[in-house]
Amino acid sequence: MSNTHSNSHPRRIVVKVGSNVLTRPDGMPNTTNMSALVDQIAALRAIGHEIVLVSSGAVACGRGAVTPRHTLDSVAARQLYSSIGQIRLINLYSQFFAGYGIVIGQVLTQKENFSSRSAYLNQRACMLTMLENGVIPVVNENDTVSLTELMFTDNDELSAMIASMVDADTLIILSNVDGVYTGAPTDASSRLISRVAPGQDLTDCVVAAKSGFGRGGMGSKCGMASKVACEGITVIIARGDRPGVLVDVIEHPDRVPHTLFEPAAPLSTVKRWIAHSTSFAKGIITVDARAAEALRSDRAVSLLPVGVTAVEGEWEEGDIIAVNGPDGCRIAMGRAATDSTEAAASAGHRGCRPLVHYDYLYLE
Ligand code: GLU
Repeated sequence: MSNTHSNSHPRRIVVKVGSNVLTRPDGMPNTTNMSALVDQIAALRAIGHEIVLVSSGAVACGRGAVTPRHTLDSVAARQLYSSIGQIRLINLYSQFFAGYGIVIGQVLTQKENFSSRSAYLNQRACMLTMLENGVIPVVNENDTVSLTELMFTDNDELSAMIASMVDADTLIILSNVDGVYTGAPTDASSRLISRVAPGQDLTDCVVAAKSGFGRGGMGSKCGMASKVACEGITVIIARGDRPGVLVDVIEHPDRVPHTLFEPAAPLSTVKRWIAHSTSFAKGIITVDARAAEALRSDRAVSLLPVGVTAVEGEWEEGDIIAVNGPDGCRIAMGRAATDSTEAAASAGHRGCRPLVHYDYLYLE
């Protein structure tokens, strides 16, 4: 990557933009906001940064195009509207980016594509090949086929998983407010929080309300932002309709209000994958207080059978499992080093091989 004009080092940046920025209240694409977004992404590319765009808006953009013949349930409505809206969105992006000579590619994904290590690496390889060839991946959930129980919570979660997958330096979540406030953003006494330290508790600050078309809200943004920052990725939440916001948050951060989540030490690629695999766990191992304390310590400790008090579920070596403490709360996720039969047989015994090796253990 050339980096002749950038004030900052060249970065791999995932930009997440929500339905409310991309669509008008009547369900038509907001071409003004889309074209401004494209201008800024082109400007970031021109100074050496690599961009992945995670764009919502498929369902919202399809809504205005068709009147269903009879009332649809929420799944059918999402499928119908997204099938129409996604091509509208991608066509507009394609045209706007073509104005800068930039080629984009569409990545429609599902949560299942993150469930096995091989599917995950396949999806990752696709995105890295696109970036290597100067193509901007434009990512969304494939809402025409995803099932309610195995959907991304929202595109905030999708963008977090994509940032983690492509080893992004920075994730920028564009919202309809300037960032995270100490109270409701509309309340005059609320202050914008400009920096959040890794692991900082924000529960008192986050107002659960969500707005408009999208599925997310500030609560889900903060949860995802904190998690991804703890994996070693800088996360920025900023207001999407501020002119020049994307370039400013990267190149001139003093010029634009935003919230920055400081990154912790980076996790390995495999631990990042495990971090986002909670919904794919095939079983649960419960450990006693001593083992829980050892796992939570600063030392590199593998999960040994000696501290295991219960084994639930059936799994094969290599599957994802959850690790609970004695109080039943999850303390870690891991990739099993044995199958569930061996885990159950060795539970409570000394001198047996680890059930999850430290390199494959992600602590919550
Ligand atoms: N994938 C959905 C869409 O494109 C958006 C999900 C969300 O709002 O986060 O309409």
